[in-house]
Amino acid sequence: MKLRRATADRLTYEIIDGAIRAARALEPSTDTFQEAEIPSVQSPALRVLVVEDEALIRGALVLGLRQEGLDVAEAGDAASCRAAMKSSRFDAVVLDLGLPDADGVKLAAELCAGPRPGLIVVTRRAEMGARIEALDVGADDYLVKPVHYPELAARIRSVVRRRGHPGRRKVQLGAWLVDLEARTATADALSAGLTRGEFDILARLADAEGRVVSRDDLLEVISRNPQDSDPRSVDMLVSRLRRKLGQVASHDELIATAPGYGYRLNGASDAAG
Ligand code: CA
Repeated sequence: MKLRRATADRLTYEIIDGAIRAARALEPSTDTFQEAEIPSVQSPALRVLVVEDEALIRGALVLGLRQEGLDVAEAGDAASCRAAMKSSRFDAVVLDLGLPDADGVKLAAELCAGPRPGLIVVTRRAEMGARIEALDVGADDYLVKPVHYPELAARIRSVVRRRGHPGRRKVQLGAWLVDLEARTATADALSAGLTRGEFDILARLADAEGRVVSRDDLLEVISRNPQDSDPRSVDMLVSRLRRKLGQVASHDELIATAPGYGYRLNGASDAAG
């Protein structure tokens, strides 16, 4: 029995390892400065937070879901999950019940109180009791590990469709109307003509609703491998963004610098529609 368990664990490891290698091989270049302007009709990727304490599984989930076209952030415990939820909006959360610093079902209940993203529990606990408990506190769906990424992505899309897109809205920034759904920034007939990286930065700052966003967080938004990237690429994108938005901006700086830390939007407000 012990031998069988060890073999199964090794097989799981090999499957995950294979998935990570495959995902890495498929990743596009991280050169954010060669990007083409994105067409405004492109629909935005769903923003998902993966909460999982086992780094290997978390890495595989993140890469697997990115391959499915989702915009994925990650948290390794309940504390960083809470911090991420506070500083950003997500369409859905993928939650592991077995976390080191919180009871997973209690955390699910906490996430389900008030306005919230869709919640998909992904866990080793296959027993009916855990499933019923999680669904009872408000989880929208429940999957037992190991998961198949296309299925998880399909379930995330389905949950978000059922719940609507709580995180999507329009933001008025000075003279600019920023449409986070259509990924456009326009002032009357003028389009800011933002590239993908510039818009991702702008959208992340708009998500923070006036709070400062660290350069590291912004780097994570624009890069698939933040640890391999240069934080100065964030500064370059922000400076291009300022120049483009500056075409019709008032005297006030639309994007303020928090020296040595990051950036925040000045005077952004929710726009009608
Ligand atoms: Ca766990």
